[in-house]
Amino acid sequence: MNGARTPRLPASEKSGWAMKIAGRVTIDDLPRICPLVCRQTNPRYGSHHRRVVEVGRARFGARSPVVIAGPCTVESWEQTLELAQIAKGSGADMLRGGAFKPRTSPHDFQGLGVEGLKILRAASDKVGLPVVTEVIDVRLVETVAQYADMLQIGSRSMQSYPLLVEVGRVGKPVLLKRGMAASLCEWLGAAEYIAKEGNLEIVLCERGIKTCSSGEYSRYSLDLNVIPALHLLTFLPIIVDPSHATGVASMVESASRGAVEFGCDGLIIEIASERLDAPRPVCDADQAIDPPTLRRITRFVRGHEELVPPEARMEEYAV
Ligand code: PEP
Ligand code: MN
Repeated sequence: MNGARTPRLPASEKSGWAMKIAGRVTIDDLPRICPLVCRQTNPRYGSHHRRVVEVGRARFGARSPVVIAGPCTVESWEQTLELAQIAKGSGADMLRGGAFKPRTSPHDFQGLGVEGLKILRAASDKVGLPVVTEVIDVRLVETVAQYADMLQIGSRSMQSYPLLVEVGRVGKPVLLKRGMAASLCEWLGAAEYIAKEGNLEIVLCERGIKTCSSGEYSRYSLDLNVIPALHLLTFLPIIVDPSHATGVASMVESASRGAVEFGCDGLIIEIASERLDAPRPVCDADQAIDPPTLRRITRFVRGHEELVPPEARMEEYAV
């Protein structure tokens, strides 16, 4: 019978037979993969201190979690200004909005481009909130950096290494989203690309990962466990995107509370107008929360910070 051949196993030096997998990395390899962002190789951060990343008055990794809110996509001046005012009025610290959108279909709306950047900048200045927006193209990094206070690397681009190098060089803080199928090691490896260019102003963002249940009752699976794991392994702040992680507006508030309970350093949330005559968002309408929900979330975040100092939380996971 011609059955599958048993692979020939290399003899391990110490323990008899073992199988070695090429290219496999584990958490033990982090000091080699990412010495610039790894806690173990940067003892000045001790066992629980985080690097504080400042974007205007927003301080990631400081005592209070940062709340970022705004539209999925910049669609018009009126829409962006209204949502920027709602973000500000609800107590958010930063504005978000996409001008260059990474869409599954090239036939779908790709964002307003530079026009969207100008709208974002103007709305951000008008309400007095710093703004983060995504850059998807290595050729556009300098342009986006002219308008934005923080550059977002989206989930789909997390392993676009030339893009990471370029945002590392441009000298603006970076919001590095987790690839939707990326391991913790791959994610920190991506952060290392930015750090290697001399830019340590990096904030990590968990935004849901693909699992067996993705798309069944929620868009992705929100990996809250990664928050304490990252705090143990790196000094970079970590925020959570409950909007893309769930894809369901009614789940965003509890996902936000859960993320805060797990010790995240901030939230990035998509919102929409509650005016009946407001147009439905062209992108991700089903996950956009209304202004009262955003107000409840920011109240929860502010109330929570009084109760649990981050230092006390971190001690539990300290090595
Ligand atoms: C976004 O935040 O606009 C976005 C597209 O998110 P992600 O890259 O996490 O899908
Ligand atoms: Mn979106």
